[in-house]
Amino acid sequence: MSKKLLLIISVLLMGCACKQPTKTQDVSSGIDVPVFNADSAYQYTANQVSFGPRVPNTPAHVACGNYLADALRRFGAEVIEQETTLSLLDNTPIQIKNIIGSFQPENKNRVLLFAHWDSRPYADNDPNPDNHNKPIDGANDGAGACAALLEIARQTGIKQPAVGIDIIFFDAEDWGVSNPNIASRHYGQWCMGSKYWAQNPHIPNYTAKYGILLDMVSAPGAQFYKEYTSVSNAPHVVKKVWEAARATGYDSYFVNENGQQIEDDHAQVIKYRNIPCIDIIQYDSLGSSGFGAYWHTLDDNMNNVSKETLQAVGQTVLYVLHHEK
Ligand SMILES: [Zn+2]
Repeated sequence: MSKKLLLIISVLLMGCACKQPTKTQDVSSGIDVPVFNADSAYQYTANQVSFGPRVPNTPAHVACGNYLADALRRFGAEVIEQETTLSLLDNTPIQIKNIIGSFQPENKNRVLLFAHWDSRPYADNDPNPDNHNKPIDGANDGAGACAALLEIARQTGIKQPAVGIDIIFFDAEDWGVSNPNIASRHYGQWCMGSKYWAQNPHIPNYTAKYGILLDMVSAPGAQFYKEYTSVSNAPHVVKKVWEAARATGYDSYFVNENGQQIEDDHAQVIKYRNIPCIDIIQYDSLGSSGFGAYWHTLDDNMNNVSKETLQAVGQTVLYVLHHEK
């Protein structure tokens, strides 16, 4: 993710290896919420990482894009693959693909879920300078969030909520300049894929009630603060999600405090589509970057993926979706 810090403002743990239960009941409302399966989400993360870094213009990127689109289709979504060519700052062309999966496409009452599926082309935050030009696995920064959405897609194929769901995997999120002192590579910009889609949606005049972005939602012990752009543009969605986390017993992950403003894909969707969106994104107030010591390093790999964190986020989002009217 484009981690550009702009402004400082201020368990009930269900077992992951659920063998039988397929739903959980919210006693207060009588609504059955499907149980998010973190084993599946972990495997979907590993599957993406196994292709190698998902950097545009590489075979691994093409293969993983096909995997994601095929998985959405298999889970029952109608899939549109939006492909185009964008340019890096030095005018190098890159082939990108935004992948859109829609459930109940005829339903006008829609919720948008999104994440970025590309991985960063350079480990420019790595402590070893020799690694600065190497691409990262992006297990947490990319794959984990897409995996959580794939598991939500699988659950949606089994049991539909009242609302229609669109899941978008945005490409080319992670090309921005993070360390201007390291310039020996092709830099691009943050959020290029989401900007392209927001300006050229897969359906003319596409809209949704609101959107939820997942970014870096799979690291052990991750904590999510109320991101500034989210609070500014979609306070009702922040409230809804944080209340859902409390209702499902995951409030230790969803901290009841405001956090940084982070430049991320949600800002593009807010700006160009006028859809209120929030960003569920890890923030580590003790880390030098704010995003964990492994952020934009070669250590952003499967060793830093937690089923418990995936469970907390996935179950919270499923709760929100199944309480939506
Ligand atoms: Zn990133």
